[in-house]
Amino acid sequence: MRVQVAIIGAGPSGLLLGHLLARAGIDAVILERRSAEYVLGRIRAGVLEQGTIDLLTEAGIGDRAHREGLVHHGVEIAFAGQRHRIDLHKLTGKGVTVYGQTEVTRDLMEARAASGLTTVYEAMDVRVEAFDTANPIVHYFKDGVSHRLACDFIAGCDGYHGICRESVPAGAIKTYERVYPFGWLGILSDTRPASEELIYVRHERGFSLCSMRSATRSRHYLQCALTDRVENWPDDRFWAELKTRLDPEMAENLDTGPSIEKSIAPLRSFVAEPMRFGRLFLAGDATHIVPPTGAKGLNLAVADIRYLSAALIEHYAGSDQGIDEYSAKCLRRIWRAERFSWWFTSMLHRFPDTAAFDSRILDAELDYVVHSHAASTAFAENYVGLPFDA
Ligand SMILES: Cc1cc2nc3c(=O)[nH]c(=O)nc-3n(C[C@H](O)[C@H](O)[C@H](O)COP(=O)(O)OP(=O)(O)OC[C@H]3O[C@@H](n4cnc5c(N)ncnc54)[C@H](O)[C@@H]3O)c2cc1C
Repeated sequence: MRVQVAIIGAGPSGLLLGHLLARAGIDAVILERRSAEYVLGRIRAGVLEQGTIDLLTEAGIGDRAHREGLVHHGVEIAFAGQRHRIDLHKLTGKGVTVYGQTEVTRDLMEARAASGLTTVYEAMDVRVEAFDTANPIVHYFKDGVSHRLACDFIAGCDGYHGICRESVPAGAIKTYERVYPFGWLGILSDTRPASEELIYVRHERGFSLCSMRSATRSRHYLQCALTDRVENWPDDRFWAELKTRLDPEMAENLDTGPSIEKSIAPLRSFVAEPMRFGRLFLAGDATHIVPPTGAKGLNLAVADIRYLSAALIEHYAGSDQGIDEYSAKCLRRIWRAERFSWWFTSMLHRFPDTAAFDSRILDAELDYVVHSHAASTAFAENYVGLPFDA
């Protein structure tokens, strides 16, 4: 079998790339290790930057996000017992949209199915080879049968634990990593969100975040130890701990109820450079991870795909400039989002080795962020997403 582009991974990166290439008449197959149901069941990101919404709209798959997404013009940061609102819209003219990653994935899957495009789910033992030649090959098994896929390009959209990054010779790739000494315990519940906007809380017992997926579905997080386990957190304990980290008014009004999902995620900053190896491109979580505090992971993945789809479309129109510039363009944006995510994480979390002095310095920095017009603007322009050509 031969295609122009073999896409490994049917997360948001792979599905969006497949969609954009198909609209340009480029033939692509997506190979995904898991089942479609499994991919749809993963509860992950939920805050979309304006640039992400714009791209989904341009790609003809933004209707439901516009209809059902919640547009937020501000965000609250709580510390030292007080909440402070940052007016994103007033400071930048932009906002963010709360619309779950699962919904983006569903929209992309439905568009793909409606166009009759091929996604091979439960493709096992995917291997990529010869990507340093003009004829890359992908091998995989489906239902025990071995397949060989010849292609012009391979897009490694297979997430942090995928095989594409691992297939690059060690000497050709450099990685940068910071692992944080805590995780996030998250619960999803059909309860009224704590507020109309997200609330990020710095507290002496640790960080917490009150977020949502819709007007009736909440997503809350607590900073927890890396060694902690979901079984240690029955719902009652979760809600009680969250209340202790909120101010009395918020705690009093918090709507609580049974969780419908509960998980612990470790926090990590990670970048692998470059993002192109001959005819293999890496995109999304396959090449970078940010701690979720800045809500940048999915948005960065979408930005990579914006550049990669344009580069491949340009290639088939006769120019390789986009392909040559792909890695550098993405990495510039990625490192700025890495910086913001690291900074916001460092501001809000309790680190085991934070001295009393450092803690007061963090309070002072947050105080500056929420009260200085210049500092609030810097925060807001990063939070809503930096412009693409800046
Ligand atoms: C708990 C959690 C919360 C998050 N919260 C946020 C948030 O609030 N805001 C935000 O912007 N981001 C958030 N993120 C990050 C966001 O979910 C990711 O950045 C996003 O999923 C990246 O999409 P992707 O398609 O690049 O990778 P993935 O979504 O990881 O998709 C990769 C796909 O490749 C498949 N795959 C892997 N290996 C193989 C293989 N060998 N063969 C074939 N297929 C393979 C996987 O099954 C998967 O379907 C969160 C992530 C997690 C884990």
